[in-house]
Amino acid sequence: MIAHQDSWVNSANRGDYSIANLPYGVFRDRGDVGVGVAIGDEILDLSAVMALGYFEGLARELPALAGQEIFAASSLNRFIAGGPTVWRAVRSRIQELLSARNNEMAKFASQVFRKRATTELLLPVEVGDYTDFYSSIQHATNVGKLFRPDNPLLPNWRHLPIGYHGRASSIVVSGTEITRPSGQVLPPGAEVPVFQRTNALDIELELAFIVGATTALGETIPVASAEEAIFGVALFNDWTARDIQKWEYVPLGPFLGKNFASSMASWITPMDALEPFRVAGPMQEPPPLPYLRTTGRHHFDIELSVTLEGVEGESVTMCRTNARHLYWSMAQQLAHHTSNGCNVRVGDVMASGTISGDKAGSWGSLLEATFGGKTPIQGPAGRDRRFLEDGDTVTIRGWAERGDVRIGLGEVVGRIRGGHKDDGTAGR
Ligand code: MN
Repeated sequence: MIAHQDSWVNSANRGDYSIANLPYGVFRDRGDVGVGVAIGDEILDLSAVMALGYFEGLARELPALAGQEIFAASSLNRFIAGGPTVWRAVRSRIQELLSARNNEMAKFASQVFRKRATTELLLPVEVGDYTDFYSSIQHATNVGKLFRPDNPLLPNWRHLPIGYHGRASSIVVSGTEITRPSGQVLPPGAEVPVFQRTNALDIELELAFIVGATTALGETIPVASAEEAIFGVALFNDWTARDIQKWEYVPLGPFLGKNFASSMASWITPMDALEPFRVAGPMQEPPPLPYLRTTGRHHFDIELSVTLEGVEGESVTMCRTNARHLYWSMAQQLAHHTSNGCNVRVGDVMASGTISGDKAGSWGSLLEATFGGKTPIQGPAGRDRRFLEDGDTVTIRGWAERGDVRIGLGEVVGRIRGGHKDDGTAGR
């Protein structure tokens, strides 16, 4: 196990960006764009490492690593397309090069590192398609109760991972400002809608995974091998306008209440970094159909939190929960998605749906925390909150710890900017 080793990069020996983590991202720095790995306070520039010849041995065996383009790229897609053999070879080579037992690269520190705190990070993958699931039974139950108190969970819920096709083009990297959307809403008691800025802007705390395989139409990914087709995970905030959603979603589901923006973390943690944190999922009752049935541990013990900071600068933690609460695993989501022969492509993003725990304070959306906006929570500066206000900053964090191994998924941050003053009614 390399995981317990120290690194000669001192800042990697405490905190989230340890040698056991090594998440991938894409940076832009002084005109250079490239693939990097977070290590302590630094970003390891993989093109620079390659230019120094440190991947030469691997490139002889793995043609995908020949040539500079795989890391001198504006997205991870080419690297991801190399498949699990390439991911593992590169990861273990990086661990070797950063290990305290081998400081041969230390003399090139000024060439291979860029400062993590001050380097711009881009959306790490070119996302072809985005699918959003609804995999937390607590979330589905909490939301279901708001509409159907007696029958919160619909009959299909325990038989399949519910999902819908989201919009890939509006996935933005952490740090991007989110413009408050306008849309049709039906005011309470009204019979006809108005077009206005949303008054019910919400977050959804989610964990996304990045598809690491391309399949042909008609091909399926069996649940038993689905994890091999997943490159890694990233924190995800699936912003939602509840009032727009409520009016538009019947009969076809989520649309403009959802597709104005989803924020993704800058760093993608590879599946191999999650190995020490595998746990069994919740008992699935009734047992799912055979194509969704798994044995062993396919859930991950990842702590999650949501912090809300108001314009006053004060912040509150509005949610603490854990990814292990998800009912449907990533493997089940991907197997289900392809079970009809739907093709997937490298870089596709699939998100879990809001992750909620089983008690107040562990709910991953304001919709749940405020019971549909009826009961405010105490927000920053002691003020009541139902939904997000202009100027709010939401930060989702994720981390996992076991013994002396700690990894962090970084954060996904978004600040709400007031929408256009012209709410769309001008000139009508
Ligand atoms: Mn969602």
